[in-house]
Amino acid sequence: MTPTVNPDRLWQSILDIAAIGPTPDGGSNRMALTPEDTAARRLFQGWCDDLALHREQDAIGNMFFRREGTVPTDGAVAFGSHLDTVPTGGRFDGIFGVMAGLEILRALHDAGHRTRAPLELVNWTNEEGSRFRPAMMGSRVHAGDMTLEAALAIADDAGTTVAEALQASGQAGPLTPSPRGWACWLEAHIEQGPVMEATATDIGIVTGTMHARYFQMVVTGEPSHVGPTTMDRRRDSLAAAAEIVLAVEKIGLTAEPGGRASASWIENYPNARGNVSNITRLHCDVRHDRAADAIAMESALRDAIAAIAARRLLRIDIDPYATFGPIHFDANLCNLLRRKAEARQLTVRDMTAAAGHDSVLLAPLCPSAMLFIPSVGGITHNPLEYSTKEQVARGAQTMLDAVLDLAG
Ligand SMILES: [Zn+2]
Repeated sequence: MTPTVNPDRLWQSILDIAAIGPTPDGGSNRMALTPEDTAARRLFQGWCDDLALHREQDAIGNMFFRREGTVPTDGAVAFGSHLDTVPTGGRFDGIFGVMAGLEILRALHDAGHRTRAPLELVNWTNEEGSRFRPAMMGSRVHAGDMTLEAALAIADDAGTTVAEALQASGQAGPLTPSPRGWACWLEAHIEQGPVMEATATDIGIVTGTMHARYFQMVVTGEPSHVGPTTMDRRRDSLAAAAEIVLAVEKIGLTAEPGGRASASWIENYPNARGNVSNITRLHCDVRHDRAADAIAMESALRDAIAAIAARRLLRIDIDPYATFGPIHFDANLCNLLRRKAEARQLTVRDMTAAAGHDSVLLAPLCPSAMLFIPSVGGITHNPLEYSTKEQVARGAQTMLDAVLDLAG
């Protein structure tokens, strides 16, 4: 009996998880290590227990469910994603990848098929980074990109640390986070963009990620009274920041279709009615398919900022605090996913991921790849986020076919 995914069961599991932490408009709010996230983890764990999977959990809360192979010493074929959401989360971002992995194991169980290599299904802690920054925290600590101690000390806006949240939720496991000697890693995810729907693509083969560069900026002007201070004497940090926001947007527009640029956060001081502002902090990022083009976008940003500072006679400090990618996923795994999709008469397209994913942290550890399924309307991080039952099933079946090839 050839293992085949059960579309109805997979669909129902996604809906059952989505019902935990529901938002009035049909989405989900399960920020990392909240009672809602914990309840979703427990439901997921119960389903894994039904399959008699061996559970392990590490000290940052990452969950690993292992199905032993006939050759237990082989490196495991690992797959999964994340169950946490942003506060305005949809039902599919992350959840699809974990539930597709569960459905793969259920289908193997139904078929009585024991693979040669072991399989591991993973739920990564705090992929979204909405409650505790940075994003992709669980996979980051697993990969050694951040120490466990540093992650445990990070606090949310209410002052609760990751360590306290892990303790309160009972999600701190005994394992020391570290790479697990996997043969390879696969992640199924929704596209979170409009390209697949527009091109009638069933399966996106994610060959890599964009290159992103992140900046924190501080504009320093001079405080003064909005009445008596004549316009020519002002050193208005907020007005300068407004110019920066528009400059960032223009850089993004100029860099299309491969590039994006966003100013997404601002903090203003004294932020008082009656005062010309004197300190404004901004966050922005630029990203592009090609690293060289992202670097050129940064140059354009620096030129624009230098011009604004010179004209307005104020100071603008730029802290380029992080970069991300470009990651190139494993070509052999990408080819395998492509072949498996085509063998099922599915339409396929190579894609570049524009958002961060756990797979980005895993790619340096072992051969890694991702596949995308379409997002209706390209809507994501939004209660309206949607993929159809058929799209979800096609993605899971393609993954299962690839896992069978890899694990035997
Ligand atoms: Zn995600």
